[in-house]
Amino acid sequence: MNEAQEETKRTYWVRTFGCQMNLHDSEKIENLLHHNGFRPAAAQDEAELVLINTCSIREKAENRLYTDLGLLRDWKSASPNRVLGVGGCVAQQEGDALLRRFSHLDFVFGTHNLRLVPTMADAARRGQRSARTEEHASLDRFELPARHPDFAGRGNGHAFVTVMEGCDMFCTFCIVPRTRGREISRPAASIVEEVANLARRGVREITLLGQTVNAYGRHDARRSQSEAAGTVPFAALVRQLSAVPGIERIRYTSPHPIFFDADLVAAHAEVEALCPHVHLPVQSGSDAVLAQMRRRYTCEEYLRRVDALRAARPDIAITTDLIVGFPGETDTDFRATLDLMQRVGFVDSFSFKYSPRPGTQAVELGDVPPPDVAQARLAELQELQRELTLAHHRARVGQETVVRVEGESHRRGGKSVYGRDPYHRVVNIPGELAPGLFAEVRIVEATPHSLIGEAISPKTAAAA
Ligand code: SF4
Repeated sequence: MNEAQEETKRTYWVRTFGCQMNLHDSEKIENLLHHNGFRPAAAQDEAELVLINTCSIREKAENRLYTDLGLLRDWKSASPNRVLGVGGCVAQQEGDALLRRFSHLDFVFGTHNLRLVPTMADAARRGQRSARTEEHASLDRFELPARHPDFAGRGNGHAFVTVMEGCDMFCTFCIVPRTRGREISRPAASIVEEVANLARRGVREITLLGQTVNAYGRHDARRSQSEAAGTVPFAALVRQLSAVPGIERIRYTSPHPIFFDADLVAAHAEVEALCPHVHLPVQSGSDAVLAQMRRRYTCEEYLRRVDALRAARPDIAITTDLIVGFPGETDTDFRATLDLMQRVGFVDSFSFKYSPRPGTQAVELGDVPPPDVAQARLAELQELQRELTLAHHRARVGQETVVRVEGESHRRGGKSVYGRDPYHRVVNIPGELAPGLFAEVRIVEATPHSLIGEAISPKTAAAA
């Protein structure tokens, strides 16, 4: 095989399930692969290396992995050069059990071992199967190369930036503390440097990522080691990043309600780049259920945070996560959740039926509502959310906003693009605008899922 043929074989395809943390991990892996001579394939069937970045937060997502792995058996057997790897939360949980269960799987990498992917892929090509799921308590795992010149990321002027990883909260329903490990925060200087590099590459909007993002640096502060660790309070980090030339928008996800301090609330009033949107997971509107979930706040405490945010930034859009059918949830508890939704007026929510995850405390709780009851509650909750979202959207008609264009829209009736405004709402705009452009838009129509706007003028040049 000559060099040119060899080069065309080094192609990859990554499938990602789950949260934004996973999406960003996939970007980190892709960047690493670029640094190691790989390039993206045009389609999965044409790739030499296929990676599946998995999610185990709900049973459905985990089962999807097993289906996909089964379907990839034929792909793998079609060529001896093909390599198949699995990473993410299921990989972290299952480790080499996945290798035993799927004989065509070459390697398994845990959430702390992204850096090993190129090496493991090369070893697999030489016939060595392996699983690496050890946890690393050091900051080494954040030491990843800057974006390769040929890797633009998928953001169109937007980039995710990890500020902390792991979670020490141990909500009783959640597997994340076991798949992502203990909380660890990056030094602020390294985050600022990454953001400055991204801004030089044309990024104008960043989303700071962490499982409990606003708990950033808290353990260092508690141990009086912030200076040694190079961390600062989360609000101070936001202020530092807002001073990076070129950064126009800052978002963060997901905050935990109990780490919402006065400084962060004040930042929403004072930092122009901080978007007027907070995704603030509440999970339930019943204090009894919240206690069973070990969420560590009551509804009143949650509402106090909402009130403080609204006092600081009256137009702020608040979205949330909700679980129905949690063990012990009565009809009264469920009605309390609907009541809380009305009181807050959530602009949007991600809502799910409780899914028991092996290894979490909630599986021991019992008294789970019957599936048909949980399903009916979910449908009722989602109907209420549709009404709340539509009411919010209707109130926006006639307003002007700025949309960062993300790509072509799939709406019928002529060409259009879509993007997000500062409130994180999807806005469809008829016409052609380049991805990455910040476009000034007037909202002309509301639908249950998105807004429709007409471009007034493009605000700035397209991002790299
Ligand atoms: S705060 Fe709770 S729900 Fe969020 S990642 Fe941690 S354990 Fe899971």
